[in-house]
Formats: sequence, structure tokens, C-alpha cells
Amino acid sequence: MADEVGNSGSRTHSYGLSALRLVSQARERIAKAAGCNAHEVVFTSGATESDNLAILGLEQYGLKTGRTHIVSTAIEHKAVAEPLALLRSRGFEITLVKPSRSGHVAAGEMLEAVRPDTLLVSIMHANNETGAVQPIDAVACGLDEDGPYLHVDAAQTFGRLTGTLRNKRIDLISLSAHKFFGPKGVGALIARRRGMQRPPLAPLMVGGGQEDGLRPGTLPVPLVAGFGLAAELAVREEAQRAASCRAIRTDALAALSRLEPSIHGEPGGEVLPNILSLAVPGVDSEAVMVSVKDVAAISNGSACTSSSYQPSHVLTAMGLDENEIAETIRISWSHDTGRVDWDEIATRIEQLRL
Ligand code: PLP
Repeated sequence: MADEVGNSGSRTHSYGLSALRLVSQARERIAKAAGCNAHEVVFTSGATESDNLAILGLEQYGLKTGRTHIVSTAIEHKAVAEPLALLRSRGFEITLVKPSRSGHVAAGEMLEAVRPDTLLVSIMHANNETGAVQPIDAVACGLDEDGPYLHVDAAQTFGRLTGTLRNKRIDLISLSAHKFFGPKGVGALIARRRGMQRPPLAPLMVGGGQEDGLRPGTLPVPLVAGFGLAAELAVREEAQRAASCRAIRTDALAALSRLEPSIHGEPGGEVLPNILSLAVPGVDSEAVMVSVKDVAAISNGSACTSSSYQPSHVLTAMGLDENEIAETIRISWSHDTGRVDWDEIATRIEQLRL
């Protein structure tokens, strides 16, 4: 930030060109990781903005073509659920497919909901509360080539399950750099062309026409450069990072099993190795968070909804009752977390039951 003072949009002097080189390098790194072309990467402020651009950006096209039906799921992040609710209030019909008890949505149900007037299918790759991985490949492969646009919110999975995102049938992918150790406040929407055609998105803001007219404003060059490097490292180290996370999950399950918890996301499908969502019978999650706070920083919901006391819409959609929702804690870690004293955590939780 001290040395690279240029605006990557300034083409007439060396400061601008130097900044542009950094932005181009980041764009190439992200494109290579995601299996798309560099010009298909649209930098945004994060996955929230990318989700909004993917969904609200298609509104005008949907209205113009009479395609005003959208298929999504009942477990989406608010960054998808809220734009969908907005479109519903403006006359769109939204079908939300429910998950199973384990938090997995069936690809068949998503595909059955598609109609001739379906504009968009939007499905998250992995749920941020439970870690449940959704059947993206099956949905992508089941859609006609010229059928609805497919948007995948991959905030939780880029750098973890990146291979799936390279499926060319996925038109729109939302990314957030801080989910794979890049800076906060930067992300991207990948808008893949079908043939030569970019998805018919309208920008949410207008101004200087940056990012191919889709996202005006001066790019935050240091954040973008950090995003690019983080993406390259995450994909290069994907297998090792997953193995480290899996080892921590195995230790956690071994130590916590004496509490006889119900593990959300299991059985019934794949779960991310860095997230564990569970309910300990008879123990309130608020009490757990307080009792372990000097050992582990854990939560009972997603950071984006932790200011509201509404029960999680994800756990509710999975069919959990009020008690199980109140007993649910969410623990997450990274490949870099190191040793965790799971026995101590289990003991503290056990004491709350006495
Ligand atoms: N989508 C999912 C699945 C997420 O987990 C998050 C963040 O928690 C977001 C979207 C929003 O991402 P950002 O914080 O980059 O706006």
C-alpha cells in the first residue's frame, strides 16, 4: 500500500501501469484456479456483492424475456436469500427446495423444479453453518446446455473443492477472498461466457465502467493482489490443507463422542472437513460458548446473523426442533489451527450437563 500508489485504471503513467500489472496477475491467478478466462473474473467487495450481482443483475433480462422463475434452496446464505426475497416482492416466482435432515439438497428435486420460464438456478456449494456439501456436479450436468443460468455461491469451497467449480456449465460463481486467507473486503463474481455470450447481467451501480461495465469504481489494488496470491496458494495446497483439517475433525469427533452429540450434515452426504456443527442433548449453546471461551472461540450460528436471535433458517429447514436448534454449536478451524484441546472442551461441556 505504501509502494503501489497507482490506480489500475490509469493507463497514461507508470504508476497506473504497475498497478494494472498486479491486478492482471491476480485476475490470471484466480482464473487459472477457477478454470475460466481472465476476462470472466469480475472483482467485487466480497461474496455478498457477487451474490447480489448474480441474482439482481439478471432481473432486467428476466423481465424482458418473460423468464421470471428462479429455483434455489431453503438453506442459502442471506446474501442469496435476501436478493431472492427482493425479486419475489417484485413479481418473480421463487421455488426454494428443502434439504434433507442432514442438510443436503437433492439434485433431482432442484432439476424437477426447473420450468421453461426458469431464469436462474442458484445453489450454494457448501453450507456455511453445517458444512454440508451440495450436489453441484449433478445439478450442472442435469441442466440443458441452453437452459437456465446456474449460479453457485462458492464462498465456502473455493480452495477446498475447487475441481467442481471448473465445470463449464456453471455460469456464475461467487467468491470471497477472506474465506481462504486472503484479505477481507474483496471477492469476485466469475461470469463465464456461453459460447461468446456473457450472462446478460446489468450492473447494480453505474459509474466509471470498470470491470467490463459490471462493477464501477477504482479497484482496491492491494486487496486484489492479496486475493490473487491467496487463491493460488489455496489451490496449490488444497490436498494438504484438507488432510490437516480432516485430522482435526477426526480428533474432535473422537473427544466429543462421549457427549453423544448429533452431528449435523451426517450421515447423508459429504461435509467440509473444517466445519463441525453439532447439538449436545441437554446443553444450551449459549452456555457452551461462555464456558469454553478461553479455550476455543465457537459460535451458534453464522457471523452474519449472530446479531439476531432468530433461530437459524438453515437448521429450521433441516427439520430440527427448537431444542436441537438451541443446543447447536458450530466449530470451525483451518489447516493452520494446530493442536486443539478437545478433551478440555468436552469436559467443560459435560460439566454443563451436571
Ligand atoms: N455466502 C456464503 C456461503 C458465506 O459463507 C458468506 C460469508 O460468510 C457469504 C456468502 C458472504 O461473504 P462476504 O463476507 O465475502 O460478503
